[in-house]
Amino acid sequence: MIGGGYVGLVSGACLAAVGTNVTIIEHDPTRLNRLKAGDIPLYEPGLEELVAEQRQAGRLAFSDDLAAALQKSRAVFIAVGTPTRRGSGHADLSYVHAAARAIAAHAPDGLLIVTKSTVPVGTGRQVAAIVRQARPDLTFHIASNPEFLREGHAIADFMQPDRVIIGLESSPTIPSTARTLLEQLYAPLNGPENRLLFMGLESAELTKYAANAFLAMKVTFANEMADLCEATGGQIADVTHGMGMDPRIGPHFLMPGPGYGGSCFPKDTQALATSARQAGTPVQLIETTIAANEARKRRLAERILALAKGDITDCTIAVLGLTFKAHTDDMRQAPALTILPLLHEAGATLRVHDPQGMSTAKPLLPDGITYADSPLQAAEGADMLLVLTEWPVFASLTPAQLAPKMRGRLILDYRQIWQGHDWQQAGFHYHSLGYGTHR
Ligand code: NAD
Repeated sequence: MIGGGYVGLVSGACLAAVGTNVTIIEHDPTRLNRLKAGDIPLYEPGLEELVAEQRQAGRLAFSDDLAAALQKSRAVFIAVGTPTRRGSGHADLSYVHAAARAIAAHAPDGLLIVTKSTVPVGTGRQVAAIVRQARPDLTFHIASNPEFLREGHAIADFMQPDRVIIGLESSPTIPSTARTLLEQLYAPLNGPENRLLFMGLESAELTKYAANAFLAMKVTFANEMADLCEATGGQIADVTHGMGMDPRIGPHFLMPGPGYGGSCFPKDTQALATSARQAGTPVQLIETTIAANEARKRRLAERILALAKGDITDCTIAVLGLTFKAHTDDMRQAPALTILPLLHEAGATLRVHDPQGMSTAKPLLPDGITYADSPLQAAEGADMLLVLTEWPVFASLTPAQLAPKMRGRLILDYRQIWQGHDWQQAGFHYHSLGYGTHR
């Protein structure tokens, strides 16, 4: 498994847990040393325990020696990052290409090379071309196996997948080896109803982007409906409940919020839009989704500043939550990274708390922000309290706990974690997203 990040670590540990011998290859020496010392460099519930257990059982190892690992492997997975290339919406494939070159240098005959990273359509064949060029005489097999795990639920998602997408080269002779090996590998995760979906390489690569782009669009749609509710007197929870009961729509991903973020939706929507433009078939819905999501984060900052009334330099804002969602320490593209700098630039005093994201967030946010050890400490002297992440520990806070801490009485619950009337009864002004009053 090349790459000891979220996907490589979780996939490696889970495959080990169902009986496969896995070596995770990590090239960053600091990260590798931490992993070898049993210190997991990211927060994912249950992962530390699972990794320790599988190492103890002798099925999971960490190394930077790809050559040695390949000699005892039948398959290699590429699980390296594919961030957005600087200055364009393209996926940066430099890590994938480097991994392909490293594999080519040391691959044993008959190796199955699987791309697990999220990559633009055509990348699997590029990987094959890199290997073929370096080792024209090597027999090898290529597959695409995009990963669908969600941070925060990664182990359960991997162990009980909705589906396992496997793209194979179209030639009828070559894929059979790849297919058999992947069937064996995933057999323990496949329930009685078959969840392994075999298709061509291109379809598999496109499925991952299509799924993420669709979800990003669904979230953005809910955000726009929330705005419309506010302007017209609608109640977003009623609207999305009513929509979601239609099985063609479904109830998930319809909760309004401060805009989608994370390591996947922003970069995958960009990469899909760029691939589609290049292919001469622009995906206009996704182009618009990207623009609407960016605009939303800025608009929310403006809305917060407008609510501050009076002199913003006198205003202290307590911010609960920095990560893009709960149960992760991942700060990549979190809405807080757009909203907080705008509030800070306008002169507001910010006191923030996040259960897992503060050390990652600190270097990404402007200086002068106070990092509090608890939500109640963040609330001290605050004129308003803004919720940006739906951490369960915030949901249990009560008006009685916050009232003595805060100077003001304004609650901006942008993750709908509380019931508005509880706060109103206690004398707070409670705002969330998507609740209009009839005019
Ligand atoms: P990450 O940045 O957390 O991890 C990548 C790791 O690979 C890093 O530790 C890096 O040092 C290492 N690496 C890079 N090149 C290497 C090489 N040549 N040899 C050894 N190690 C190398 O990334 P991630 O979040 O795990 O994502 C990996 C891929 O999976 C991306 O394409 C991403 O889009 C996709 N994905 C991510 C998620 C998620 O929730 N994070 C979910 C599904 C799919």
